[in-house]
Amino acid sequence: MDKIYVVATMDVEPATSTTHPSATGPDNWEDGEKFVRGYVARTGEFGLPVTFFIHPEVTVVQGDLFIELGKNGHCVDCLHLHAWKFRDGKYKAHFGGLSENDIRAALSESISMWQSGMGRRPLYFRPGTFSANDFMYQVLVDLGFRGGSCSLPGRIWPRMNAIWTGAEPDPHRAHPIFRQLIGDLEFANMPVSVDFSSRTATIGSNFQKIDPNSPEAAKGNTASNHWDLRPDWQDADYSRIADNIIDQLIDRAPSIPTINFITHNDNDHTNLDDRVCANLIKSMEAIMKSCEARNITPVGTTLDKICDMVLAEPPNVVPFIHA
Ligand SMILES: [Zn+2]
Repeated sequence: MDKIYVVATMDVEPATSTTHPSATGPDNWEDGEKFVRGYVARTGEFGLPVTFFIHPEVTVVQGDLFIELGKNGHCVDCLHLHAWKFRDGKYKAHFGGLSENDIRAALSESISMWQSGMGRRPLYFRPGTFSANDFMYQVLVDLGFRGGSCSLPGRIWPRMNAIWTGAEPDPHRAHPIFRQLIGDLEFANMPVSVDFSSRTATIGSNFQKIDPNSPEAAKGNTASNHWDLRPDWQDADYSRIADNIIDQLIDRAPSIPTINFITHNDNDHTNLDDRVCANLIKSMEAIMKSCEARNITPVGTTLDKICDMVLAEPPNVVPFIHA
């Protein structure tokens, strides 16, 4: 393997003053723009353009910001959706807890609002919390999407309808009826890159490690994940995670070797003393160092380019075997 594509992504949430105090996102819109620009500056120092998944309400307030970033080589054609905090709160469920009809309705309404802010349709999708069920991909294709970053392989977070055990780890065409598998849809999914060698458990999304046998864990909001390269963790060993992810990638030898990491717009990436900003730098340094040690060239790119490559390959579906 002589090169690995590196895709920095960010989920862009509305200001929590307009959604819910416990939701992810910046406190206010001004901080939101500052944190987005800070993330672009930090990732730019490592040669990485950014792929932004944008919640519909954000486009109405900050459409000009993202149109500008799109002109500067970032991928901004991506919709992000937490069904429960969308608009008037009609959908009392996480995305993966919606029926097929409600997925279609929530996405259609989201597309409409997103389009009003951006002046064009979203082409890529990421569900909030990677909450998803098997209706998702076919509905996305029906509504004109050509790709997304919809899965976090190995995540087990039942309360959020986010279960991705056994999911395909590398960029692939999605399956119309079984979300973990490679399929033949005209839809490319780019999973978040994870280190399959160990797991960590947290309470909800505070990214602080817990003992899975603790009383808090028994309350039922435990998220169990493989480690990944997001800067949000409170206690991650980024060098070890990057080394493991790249060694596993070399072993799997996919046709489009990709490292994809995520974060949100709720940390100040203009402040090098901010814990998450400092971790972002550690994470990107670890990726670059691991590549260099293996004579691999890291190539910064965006989701749309990864999707182009996936969709240029013929479908690679495992033939049916009866036993
Ligand atoms: Zn989100």
